[in-house]
Amino acid sequence: MDERELVIVGGGPAGMAAAVSARESGVRDILLLERDTHLGGILNQCVHPGFGLRQFKAMLTGPEYADRFIRRVSAAPEIEVSARYFVAELKPGKVLTYFQRGGISTVRARALVMATGCRERTREMIQIPGTRPAGVFSAGLAQRMMNIEGLLPGRRVVVIGSGDIGLIMARRLSLEGATVLAVVEIQRQPSGLRRNIVQCLDDFGIPLYLSHRVAWIHGRDRVTAVDIVAMKESGFEAPDTGFSLDCDTVLVSVGLIPENELIEMAGVELDRRSNTPVSSDLNYTSVPGLFVCGNAFRVYDIVDSVTLDSAIAGRQAAQYLAAG
Ligand SMILES: Cc1cc2nc3c(=O)[nH]c(=O)nc-3n(C[C@H](O)[C@H](O)[C@H](O)COP(=O)(O)OP(=O)(O)OC[C@H]3O[C@@H](n4cnc5c(N)ncnc54)[C@H](O)[C@@H]3O)c2cc1C
Repeated sequence: MDERELVIVGGGPAGMAAAVSARESGVRDILLLERDTHLGGILNQCVHPGFGLRQFKAMLTGPEYADRFIRRVSAAPEIEVSARYFVAELKPGKVLTYFQRGGISTVRARALVMATGCRERTREMIQIPGTRPAGVFSAGLAQRMMNIEGLLPGRRVVVIGSGDIGLIMARRLSLEGATVLAVVEIQRQPSGLRRNIVQCLDDFGIPLYLSHRVAWIHGRDRVTAVDIVAMKESGFEAPDTGFSLDCDTVLVSVGLIPENELIEMAGVELDRRSNTPVSSDLNYTSVPGLFVCGNAFRVYDIVDSVTLDSAIAGRQAAQYLAAG
């Protein structure tokens, strides 16, 4: 079996920052495995500006931010990048199995950094009743369709959830000619940044319904309407407040779940509520030499903090190897 000094899984901003700092800390054999065709992670589909204010004192788009790290990774001969490599299994002893074009391979890592990011919560997880028509997308999927595939997911849209991804997509859809009828948020306060409420909703005249929820999705083949109802402080629906909006698309933007199923296979202790590793310190897990960083460790608001903390993971892995 192939053995490598440091293996990093995930080529988003977290994995790239960890790779660069591990190299700067003296690690000379680094394998970076990424399932997608390109490095950059979720940043590749974030074409809006708002990245890098702290890290670079500049207002960059996601791909521009990623590019600054891709260049540093590519320039380092000690970092071997394997794109289109999907890690499917992680066994105790830091043994990884991954799919690549033409077969399945196994590698043992002396130290391992997992930087696998998050996946989105789905409609099913918040249990919105109604039919199961086409036209219900998670916000990140809609973002990928628009910004990478060049497809418009719909023309009359209701967004569920007021986190930053939902707000940014409300603006993106408006810019591309769709009508965003409402952003519906069950909490009393929006969960996204104030600047995104102003720039993504107020500037486009998109109504935000706080303390409201989507109570039903209608439609047979495609979404035709949603029912919306106000919520009382007690958590129950307020009577006689319901109304309907005719729409063909519903975007669900109700939070992210750290992707940690692989480390669970390897026996790492997980906090069931957050799906993150039980940890004594930043990036540490219950398995020595196995670190988790970026959105897989905790859901970060901004990428600059991901970079900062993931660079620490690279140094921690280097220290573990040096001590070993
Ligand atoms: C819609 C949206 C808008 C955002 N807007 C902003 C903003 O304006 N400003 C800002 O600062 N931040 C923003 N962010 C946040 C920022 O993008 C994230 O914090 C950051 O991308 C997290 O980095 P990461 O490397 O942890 O995860 P990711 O970027 O998700 O990277 C994880 C990588 O791991 C790979 N991977 C996962 N599993 C495997 C596997 N089994 N095998 C191989 N590879 C695997 C994935 O393909 C991916 O490339 C936004 C995020 C989203 C989703």
